[in-house]
Amino acid sequence: MKNNFDNIDEMVELIRDELPECEYDENFNCKECSELEECYYKASTKSAHEFAESVNNGGYDSEEEFWESLD
Ligand SMILES: [Zn+2]
Repeated sequence: MKNNFDNIDEMVELIRDELPECEYDENFNCKECSELEECYYKASTKSAHEFAESVNNGGYDSEEEFWESLD
């Protein structure tokens, strides 16, 4: 895996908040997922979903429409 993240601490923080089941060894290899990028992807998807839910999709009918409206 690549280990060239500038903000690896931020990534790990988000993952710890969203995916407490993820556990790492000293090389940041997750025991649940195959690699850190995958954990991060899952964590950010989950976080985005929770955010959309918390604002009721911004009044849109679906979460997708809400994200599209922000583009
Ligand atoms: Zn993981």
